[in-house]
Amino acid sequence: MSSFLDELNDAQRAPVLHKDGPLMVIAGAGSGKTRVLTYRIAHLMEQGVDSFNILALTFTNKAAREMKKRIATIVGNSEAKNLWMGTFHSVFAKLLRFDGDKLGYPSNFTIYDTQDSQRLIASIIKEMGLDKDIYKYKQIQNRISSYKNSLITVKAYFQNPELVEADAMAKRPRLGEIYQNYVDRCFKAGAMDFDDLLLRTNELLTRFPEVLMKYQDRFRYILVDEYQDTNHSQYLIVKALSDRYQNICVVGDDAQSIYSFRGANISNILNFQKDYDGVAVYRLEQNYRSTKNIVNAANSIIAKNKNQLEKVVWTSNDEGNKIKIHRSPTDAEEGRYVAASIFEHKMQHQLPNGEFSVLYRTNSQSRAIEDALRKKDIPYRIYGGLSFYQRKEIKDVLAYLRLILNPKDEEALKRVINFPARGIGQTTVDKLTVSANQYDRSIFEVMEHLEKLNLNINAGTKRKLGDFVTMVKSFQIMNESADAFTLAEHVAKKTGLLLEFKKDGTPEGIARMENIEELLNGIKDFVEGQKELADATGGLSEFLEDVALATDMDKDTGDDDRVALMTIHLAKGLEFPYVYIVGMEEDLFPSAMSMNTRSELEEERRLFYVALTRAEKQAYLTYTQNRYRWGKLIDAEPSRFLEEIEEQYVENLTPVNDGYRYKSMIDANIFGEIDKSKLRQIKPKNGTPPSTLRPNENQLRKLRKLKPELSAPNTNAIDSNLIEGCLVNHTRFGKGKVLKIEGMGNDKKAEIQFERGDIKKLLLRFAKLEVL
Ligand code: ATP
Ligand code: MG
Repeated sequence: MSSFLDELNDAQRAPVLHKDGPLMVIAGAGSGKTRVLTYRIAHLMEQGVDSFNILALTFTNKAAREMKKRIATIVGNSEAKNLWMGTFHSVFAKLLRFDGDKLGYPSNFTIYDTQDSQRLIASIIKEMGLDKDIYKYKQIQNRISSYKNSLITVKAYFQNPELVEADAMAKRPRLGEIYQNYVDRCFKAGAMDFDDLLLRTNELLTRFPEVLMKYQDRFRYILVDEYQDTNHSQYLIVKALSDRYQNICVVGDDAQSIYSFRGANISNILNFQKDYDGVAVYRLEQNYRSTKNIVNAANSIIAKNKNQLEKVVWTSNDEGNKIKIHRSPTDAEEGRYVAASIFEHKMQHQLPNGEFSVLYRTNSQSRAIEDALRKKDIPYRIYGGLSFYQRKEIKDVLAYLRLILNPKDEEALKRVINFPARGIGQTTVDKLTVSANQYDRSIFEVMEHLEKLNLNINAGTKRKLGDFVTMVKSFQIMNESADAFTLAEHVAKKTGLLLEFKKDGTPEGIARMENIEELLNGIKDFVEGQKELADATGGLSEFLEDVALATDMDKDTGDDDRVALMTIHLAKGLEFPYVYIVGMEEDLFPSAMSMNTRSELEEERRLFYVALTRAEKQAYLTYTQNRYRWGKLIDAEPSRFLEEIEEQYVENLTPVNDGYRYKSMIDANIFGEIDKSKLRQIKPKNGTPPSTLRPNENQLRKLRKLKPELSAPNTNAIDSNLIEGCLVNHTRFGKGKVLKIEGMGNDKKAEIQFERGDIKKLLLRFAKLEVL
């Protein structure tokens, strides 16, 4: 037996050795599903299956790269290189480059990212003269995206009276027309959006049987990780491709299905046995990732879901520490707690930063954590925020590059036609757009034939447009011989982009210029890397393909060692020794938007299950009593999920009856100089679950009646004599001078210049200030 098979337990080895025919591995978190998939590929190759005949679909391209690396150590690098592995989007974008021409797309089609799609939809709404407050472009884009993922084409939309009526009822009767225009415009621009990559693949495989046959024959073995989160469009592609050989292997966990808001359909995994004949089902039960405490706690949470396949998960790992729950008065304090705790662990055990991750429900929560980590000089990286390639200046450079390859690309053109400024105004662009629509041509084509068209554009502007066309064409000529780096560097200089940001002179401008330089370095690396590959040239088209589908997640950080910050959604499939799940509060997690139905709430609970099962050694759950949300400070209640974990697996670092809560309220000056005995009056009886321990509005009203002078928000306590110009002392920041006071009541703030140098804006309701 080859040695790598020894790295599997018996239950894992069975699906790896499974011969032909459909199989499914269904098992809980950390039980080795991804490992099984990886080893199965290696085993197939060892058994003589040609690497060209294997297709593996993963959740991120990074995961694919890591799997490939592991496989390479088993079967050798040169063989592993031939594997088609990656996300659905990247794999099928590649396929469409080969065969998309049958659908009328150029092989160098542009991939529109979400922002491109949104901009195009916004401009269509404007051109159609619709009310942008009713036709909100982001909502419309969302809607179109979900139609596409359910394979509802424009034609299918109009043939479905229910959909048409639903949109009419929602006061958007012209949504279908927008959809139509959007599809037409993308097509004319030689562009596909993310959803098209799946939709058009489906179209290709259904309309062209010979293409389907070709790929069925090519991909004789298909493997899909995280199958529980495939959407309908992805499901159909997999079904079509595997139809002939039926060598389909899917692995997943219904308890980790967390993307239904994006159209993922849990029934794909539940119905797998009905979809294929003679499916072999394998179950794995042993978790290798986490301590007993974490595994058991996670089991106790997911057991609360009614809709789930029964599963057993156990581990022979150590008992481990209990899960720690911590409460802070505010989100800023929460950030400080997390940073301090990471710092402490690092110091105590000499741990690298990469062992820690902070997970949150929504992206906006990262700020407080970032601030705190920065103050402690702990390097971190945010995944899934604005990716490098989505920054304005980077998109500007990329837009020029896209235009070189595909001058029909409308969004790229509009982005740079007047940036850097060259005197081509919006009115001119509007005229060009109208004309392009009228002649059913691209804007660039209209610009090429300005002389022949009778557009109301003056001679000066015409000359500028002509210059722009000439410049792009000169880049195109260069592209025939130069590599991506040489070309991109030339473009950044020649278009004036680099100079534009340099002469801007502000720190922001300089940062943008440096980002462009970083991009150029990146392109250089890419080109060097490509040159090593036999069938690559290092040309522009290869680079743009790589970039269009690069997500933040995929970027290789190389050797830099950072704490990972990301949403729980992005953490799927990953693992870290130490995991902090922050913002464990009602309305945040579970999200206020996902509590209307049982199935929504169950999805939130699955999300919590995913979050907790990322942890190997230690998990922290933190929540706050007050949090800034939507620009306002709100009262927060502990998440119901905290109470759902069986008590024996958790340790409360800030027990509710230690007076801490009340002390912190006083610290925070919420009640001003409140009498402790009064506080006792509003303290609920013992045994009340933590979520109700906080005084509610009613109790507060009672308290106010009892002692009105105490109950008003505290600001009076200090701000009667707090005026602009006065000197103050702050418990942490020291002495300072009040520069400005603004806002009213709870929102009253003071801008203070502190002696130690910095200026801060403090919310008086919380600021620990003493007037000197
Ligand atoms: P998730 O549901 O979170 O995606 P998973 O089921 O895919 O988890 P893996 O990521 O494959 O689980 O495995 C979890 C961890 O356990 C990994 O670190 C993996 O290397 C390790 N592991 C899996 N099987 C074994 C084994 N037989 N021996 C030792 N370690 C193992
Ligand atoms: Mg996995």
